[in-house]
Amino acid sequence: MRCLSCRKWSPYVICRSCHEQLLVPTVSTRKVGSLDVVSLFRYRNIEPFLLSKYTPAGYRLYRYFGRRHIAPFLEAFAEGLDAPARIIAVDEQPVGGYSHTALLARYGAVPGLRPLHGVLRAQNRVRYAGRSLRFRLENPRDFRYSGPSGIDAVLLDDIVTTGATLAEAHRLLRDNGVNVLFALTLADAR
Ligand SMILES: [Zn+2]
Repeated sequence: MRCLSCRKWSPYVICRSCHEQLLVPTVSTRKVGSLDVVSLFRYRNIEPFLLSKYTPAGYRLYRYFGRRHIAPFLEAFAEGLDAPARIIAVDEQPVGGYSHTALLARYGAVPGLRPLHGVLRAQNRVRYAGRSLRFRLENPRDFRYSGPSGIDAVLLDDIVTTGATLAEAHRLLRDNGVNVLFALTLADAR
């Protein structure tokens, strides 16, 4: 196949040289309420890749990001954990054939962490892309949580923009007895 970045022939969806030289994480942290949100990339640095998320290449690309970026980050994080924790992905609703967040969450299965699939679902399917914070606040996702209480969890999403979605998910999980350690996203689009 061709590398999705440089178009050279490669056995991988992103060739080795683009992986090592171009797709270097620029890990950053911001606060959303009391929640720490860690993002592995700046949105603008990987925008062309993320825009392909609803195409067939998007599936392979999300697998790349999961395997090569989400997994190593969570593996390093989990080494410091005293007790096992879970990964809770935001809204594993399939869009365009698969769920982007569920796919990323699969790569959270590292020693000390285990994904808890499909427990945080949005009732409101309104699209947020390009919408203001005010619109987002006036149209909450209206999440439902169906998982266990009394657990530690890492909240996972692919993109954080205003943080309204993560803040809403965080409140609901907290109200359900889930101790959210932090939120991890692939890209910060602020
Ligand atoms: Zn390349």
